[in-house]
Amino acid sequence: MSEAAAKKGFGEKPQPKEERRKFQAIKGTRDLLPPETALWHRVEQIAQEVFASYGFGEIRLPIFETTDLFARSIGLETDVVSKEMYSFEDRDETSISLRPEATASVSRAYLENGMQQLPQPVKLYTIGPMFRRERPQKGRYRQFYQIDAEVLGGSDAPAIDAELIEMVMKFFERLGLEGVQLDINCIGDKKCRPIYVERLRAELRKVKDRLGPDSQRRIETNPLRVLDSKLENEQKLIEGMPHIAEHLCEECAENYRGVKKELELRGVKYRENWRLVRGLDYYSRATFEITAKGLGSQNAVCGGGRYDGLMELLGGPPTRATGFAIGEDRLILSLQEAGKAPAPQGRDVYIAWMGEKAYATAIRAAENLRAAGLRIELPPAEQKFGKALGQADKLRARYALILGDNEVASGQWTLKTLATGEQIKLAESHLVDFLKGEKAKADPSHRSG
Ligand code: ATP
Ligand code: MG
Repeated sequence: MSEAAAKKGFGEKPQPKEERRKFQAIKGTRDLLPPETALWHRVEQIAQEVFASYGFGEIRLPIFETTDLFARSIGLETDVVSKEMYSFEDRDETSISLRPEATASVSRAYLENGMQQLPQPVKLYTIGPMFRRERPQKGRYRQFYQIDAEVLGGSDAPAIDAELIEMVMKFFERLGLEGVQLDINCIGDKKCRPIYVERLRAELRKVKDRLGPDSQRRIETNPLRVLDSKLENEQKLIEGMPHIAEHLCEECAENYRGVKKELELRGVKYRENWRLVRGLDYYSRATFEITAKGLGSQNAVCGGGRYDGLMELLGGPPTRATGFAIGEDRLILSLQEAGKAPAPQGRDVYIAWMGEKAYATAIRAAENLRAAGLRIELPPAEQKFGKALGQADKLRARYALILGDNEVASGQWTLKTLATGEQIKLAESHLVDFLKGEKAKADPSHRSG
C-alpha cells in the first residue's frame, strides 16, 4: 500500500463489529435507484428532444464556482446566498460554493466563452444537481436536480419569452404531467421596479407589527418576497398591498401586453398573478411559475423569467436574457403520484443453461440477443433447471431459454413463456427474429437493433 493511501485510511484493518460505523447519506440528499431512474431517463430524454426542436443545445457546467459569482448575481440579501449555500475555502483560500442554481453559471459561461460572437440569441439547456441548505421535506432537498434552459443575447421581443414558456408547457404535455397551472406576472425593470419596491416597503411598514418575523425582516431586505408569504394570518394584509401592474413604466407595460398576446397566439393558457415574484434579485419583467398536482405545498415545478440585468452584474455588456429552471425531483414526484412511473423492468430472457457445451452456446446466444436490444440474464454458474426457472421468475423474465445438452446437440432450442408455461422449439437462427417480433408487439414504442 502506498503511503498516500495509508494516510487516507485505505486498507485499514477491519474494526471489531461493535465499532464499525454505519454510513448514511447526508441529510437532504438521497440515492435514486432503479426502477425510478428509468423515469428520470425518460424525462431527460424528452426534455432533450423537445428542447432540441426549439433549437436549444446542451451546456455542461461545473458544479462549483467562486462564491463571488453567486453573491454578485443572486444577491447577498437573498435566502439562497445568505443562508443556504454550501461554501468552503479551497486550499488557496478562495471561497468556493456548490452551485445553488444554474443561471449564474450559464451567464458566466456565455461571457467567458465569447458566445456574444455567435448568432443571437444563444439557446442553452443543462440538467444536473443543485445544492441548497434548506429544511428537507417532501419535494425539498439539499441536493436536488434542475432542468434549466436559457435564451441569451437577442432582443426583448415578447415572442422570445412566450416561445420559452410554450416550450416548457409542451414538455410537460409530452410527459403527461397533470394539473399544470401557469402563472405569469411582470415585475418591472431597473427603472420602475425600485419605485414600486419603495411604495411597497412604505405600505408594509405601516402593518409591520401584524406581520411575522420573516416578513418583518424582509420589509427591509427584500420586500417583494413578502408577497410570496404563505402564512395564513398575513394573507389579508398582503392582499391590500399596492400591485406592481399600476407602477410599471410604459416600456414594461407594453412588453407585458406583448407577452400575453404572444401566449394567446400560441394557445398557451395562463393566469395572471400579481403576487408572483422571484426570490432572486436579477429577474426583471415577464416572470412565471408553473405548478402541478400531487406535490402538497411544494407544488412549484418550474420558475423562470427575464433577467436582462444579470450580464452587467457579471462585468459583461448589457445583454437580454430569459430562462427557466424546472425542479426535476418534483416533476418526477408528480408523475409518480399520477401513476406515470414505468413498471420495473424485468429481463426479456433468462438463459437457463446446463453443461459445459451448453455454456459456450449460452454465451453466444446472450451476445446475439443483447446485440438485438433485448435484456438478457446469463447466470454465472450452472443451476438446476428448477432453480433457474425460480430465479427467472424473481427477475420478472418474460422467457426462459433452456439450453441443455439435448438442445445443443439438436440445434432446436427450447423457449418457455414464464407466465403461461407454454414451450416452443426454435432453431438458433430464428430465435432473434422471433423475440424481436414478440417484443415489438408487447411494446410498440420499443425500437431495437
Ligand atoms: P420554492 O419557492 O419552492 O423554494 P424557489 O423559488 O426557491 O422555489 P427556484 O430558485 O426558482 O425555486 O428554482 C426553480 C425550481 O427548482 C422550483 O420551482 C422547484 O421546483 C425547484 N427547487 C428549488 N429548490 C428546491 C429544493 N430545495 N428541492 C427540490 N426542488 C427545488
Ligand atoms: Mg426556495
